[in-house]
Amino acid sequence: MKPTLDSFVHKGKRRILVDYLREKVGITDFAVLSAINHVPRHLFLESIFEDYAYEDRAFPIAAKQTISHPSTVAEQTMLLEVSAGEKVLEIGTGSGYQTAVLVAMDALVYTVERQKDLFDFSQKKLKEMGLRPKFQSFGDGFAGLPTFAPFDRIIVTCGAEILPMELLKQLKTGGKMVIPMGPTDEQILYRFTKISPTELEKEEFGAYKFVPMLGNTSK
Ligand code: SAH
Repeated sequence: MKPTLDSFVHKGKRRILVDYLREKVGITDFAVLSAINHVPRHLFLESIFEDYAYEDRAFPIAAKQTISHPSTVAEQTMLLEVSAGEKVLEIGTGSGYQTAVLVAMDALVYTVERQKDLFDFSQKKLKEMGLRPKFQSFGDGFAGLPTFAPFDRIIVTCGAEILPMELLKQLKTGGKMVIPMGPTDEQILYRFTKISPTELEKEEFGAYKFVPMLGNTSK
């Protein structure tokens, strides 16, 4: 069964979620809150989860993957400090929800997913919603997208065991990368700023649980 289209009930629930993100989670970036208010998250979920789509919960999506909590999406996006017109590389398209939030902020999004089912699903959804990234790739995010590099911002939505050096190479000087890193199920969220071609600033933002960043693709 397909979830129902965006109604005033969904819009009302989104508004309550945005209030929660601002007041309880501490999301202060107006552009992030406004994008979350705009994107119908329930349309990225299976219809059985529709009633809970605007609660701060993660849900299973295809290929045993997970759509992140709205608070995690909001935190990661706020840490990215992205401005309209900037080039953003996203690793782990998943459902496409985070992609849609970045597109709604007028970022030029290039996104990579290694699971074919999710690549197909997200491509269809984003097109239907009119929230299309610049480029969507079915591939291994460890390699980034060298053809389109360099990027102003890089966001990784899966947990990496070590810092993927190829991604760092594809980041502009002055650019920022937000990435959860650590062993499976217990990552720390980091922000790296490329101060010069050889210097990195590293900031830490607490513990999270992301699905693992895996190599190669899976059909
Ligand atoms: N941002 C997504 C979160 C999806 S979970 C959303 O809003 O729904 C993380 C995603 O990263 C999964 O879909 C997983 O398949 C993908 N992933 C894991 N390793 C990857 C890699 N090396 N390259 C690209 N995608 C990867």
